[in-house]
Amino acid sequence: MYKTFLVKYSEIGVKGKNRYIFENALRDQIIRALDKVEGEFEVIKEQGRILIESLSDYDYDEVIDALCHVFGIAGICPALRIDNNEWDNLTSEVKAYVEKVYGREKKYTFKVEAKRGYKDYPKNSPQICADMGEFLLNNFDNLTVDVHNPDIRIDVEIRNSAYVYSQVIKGEGGMPIGTSGRAMLLLSGGIDSPVAGYMIAKRGVKIDAVYFHAPPYTSERAKNKVIELANIISKYTGPIDLHVVNFTDIQMYIYDKCPHEELTIIMRRYMMKIAQDLAVKNGCMSLITGESIGQVASQTMQSLACTNAVCTMPVFRPVISFDKQDIVDISQKIGAFETSILPYEDCCTTFVAKHPVTKPSLKQIEKSEKKLSEDIDRLYEEALKTVETILIR
Ligand code: ATP
Ligand code: MG
Repeated sequence: MYKTFLVKYSEIGVKGKNRYIFENALRDQIIRALDKVEGEFEVIKEQGRILIESLSDYDYDEVIDALCHVFGIAGICPALRIDNNEWDNLTSEVKAYVEKVYGREKKYTFKVEAKRGYKDYPKNSPQICADMGEFLLNNFDNLTVDVHNPDIRIDVEIRNSAYVYSQVIKGEGGMPIGTSGRAMLLLSGGIDSPVAGYMIAKRGVKIDAVYFHAPPYTSERAKNKVIELANIISKYTGPIDLHVVNFTDIQMYIYDKCPHEELTIIMRRYMMKIAQDLAVKNGCMSLITGESIGQVASQTMQSLACTNAVCTMPVFRPVISFDKQDIVDISQKIGAFETSILPYEDCCTTFVAKHPVTKPSLKQIEKSEKKLSEDIDRLYEEALKTVETILIR
């Protein structure tokens, strides 16, 4: 059982003098992820790495799974920590490690890589590689050297203690949550928006979410499905404040007063406006949607232009150029797909027209909206006032 994990990080290694901000955020995100795992851990920043020390028993698979959901991690290395790093002790520990992990029967090619964080160590990195390589060759008949394409790469990092590892589990990559501001995700019960939220969060963006609920046209089950989706993506994004807007009255009102073929566009413009107001209220600087060009009538270039016209903040649409299958692939990868395809009604489909416009003109849409009396402003205020915020933790 490994007691130590050495975490390698990706891009955040190159952020110059702001590097500590990224390292602190990554450490915090690792702590958050491990909080949900049974066992006690200490998470320490150390010279280009984060070290995780287990202080109690833990379940290995659970720890790896938790760390595989943390953005900013490039690789996770289960490691052996050797506190007495004097050469004779180091070699005998490495020998025991190799024997335990790889045995003496099966043949392997190997190479040693060394890193010396502790500059006073009597051997420099090339010497450590050469001497440790020679030592292992002399002690294991089943090992031969291949520096280009080895079966096993044994890493030796000398810091205050020494760390030895030979396995790097690929991490999620991206940047730690909290390093790139905050954005409001329009989260429906579909396949696309959870994927969109995941993708933007991966760049270090903290996510809030808004769901437009239209009871009784959309059921409690539909709402619970959205809560469940928020739960699923929160495994990556961390806590989410999910704002549930009661959209029924606005939707009904638009339904009564506007040409039915324009319904979806006008409704979507109101959604974006409300989302934007909620974004400002909650310290978000942009919106995120799961729109993809041409997927449905409301996502043609013309429709997107009409919807976008009400937005003053940036709208991120990370799946805009994705084919549905590519979105499905990510949805499956993040574990959202099975929930997303549950067949509960969505407020957009309940009120959808038989023949929605596919090439709306902004002028025409604005003209139709003018006919909505002041009542819509009252309903709008009411919707904002009655938002229910659910904390997804
Ligand atoms: P999704 O699979 O994400 O539901 P979709 O292909 O069904 O997307 P639309 O229903 O046109 O497409 O919605 C486009 C985007 O608008 C969604 O990706 C989502 O970001 C947002 N959206 C749609 N309906 C809602 C809703 N009820 N609440 C919050 N956001 C919504
Ligand atoms: Mg949808």
